Amino acid sequence: MLILLHLDAGPDERARVRDTLTALDVAVEEVQLGDRTGFVVVGGERSHPKDSLARIPGVAKVVTLTDRATLVHATWKEAGHAVSLGPARFGGGHVSVIAGPCTVEDPDALREVAHVVRDAGAAALRGGVFKVRTSPYAYQGGGQKALAALHATSREVGLPFFTELTDPRQVQEVGDLIDGVQIGARHMQNFPLIEEAARLGKPMLIKRHWAADVDEWLNAAEYALRCGNDKVILCERGCKTADKHVRYLLDVGVVPYLKQRVGLPVIVDPSHAAGDHTLVPALARAAIAAGADGLIVEVHHRPETTRCDARQALSPDDFARLVRDVRAIASLTDRVLAGPSTPLRNSAVGG
Ligand code: PEP
Ligand code: MN
Repeated sequence: MLILLHLDAGPDERARVRDTLTALDVAVEEVQLGDRTGFVVVGGERSHPKDSLARIPGVAKVVTLTDRATLVHATWKEAGHAVSLGPARFGGGHVSVIAGPCTVEDPDALREVAHVVRDAGAAALRGGVFKVRTSPYAYQGGGQKALAALHATSREVGLPFFTELTDPRQVQEVGDLIDGVQIGARHMQNFPLIEEAARLGKPMLIKRHWAADVDEWLNAAEYALRCGNDKVILCERGCKTADKHVRYLLDVGVVPYLKQRVGLPVIVDPSHAAGDHTLVPALARAAIAAGADGLIVEVHHRPETTRCDARQALSPDDFARLVRDVRAIASLTDRVLAGPSTPLRNSAVGG
């Protein structure tokens, strides 16, 4: 913010404004703009609202310069800034695939899917246990029991997992059990949740809301970085449009756009964007070709049995083919697919 003083403000008035700002705990630097004196707010802009600052005697106008996500932009370095979790590595020359069911339902089905995706080359599991459903009548997820199954399966296959938290209280209750926190599209601006989750110090996947512009999305990440957690992975999952040929319109262009501006890894969720398993592989390949540091993909060996997002679930064969394509496309841009280095003994499904 820029606090502009009246044109005729003399040294005494400048000092009085500065004293008032100091009393309000607003850190500023004085700037001279032609004939006019101003103060640029350098402290947290959250500390005092613009409308209140505008009421300080002597202030002519308060201008919002930008709501730039400062810490997020500071992550930019030419080599990028990788986030690692077990065998998964996002950025820094590595691409990783997170895969699993939309939601954790039957523990046996989960184990089956987990073996399938691990054998195919996934580096981490996904699975919702606290679901955010558009309708209150839709299946809301299996809660803590499902989380225990997800945790046990993750240890069995040797892959870390990401799961969505939807309420700051869950962070206290189950945060210790979780490897990576997913902040869902609907919760992108649930800042108390983001802050509470960030304090776990674990990798965080922050999905873009379907109506959020890039600055709003980056500011959601800024909330996590302000809490001292820079293990943030940005995830594009499609924007809403009037057209219904796809569930959401995947913003592939945002991937190279962000890669030129911020160091945080950027991954893509082609499943929720497409909403249709026949479209998912093409969107996923496009994302990796555009420079994405990874994917999060929904996979199910028997989609007809699931109560959540059956239409977009990839079959095991389609997923295995996709991972092969991702490896090939990543290598075209001098990147490697990260994943477990050893095959799993006694795996339920062969690779
Ligand atoms: C999900 O990943 O299961 C999910 C609900 O995604 P989104 O938040 O992108 O809708
Ligand atoms: Mn889903």
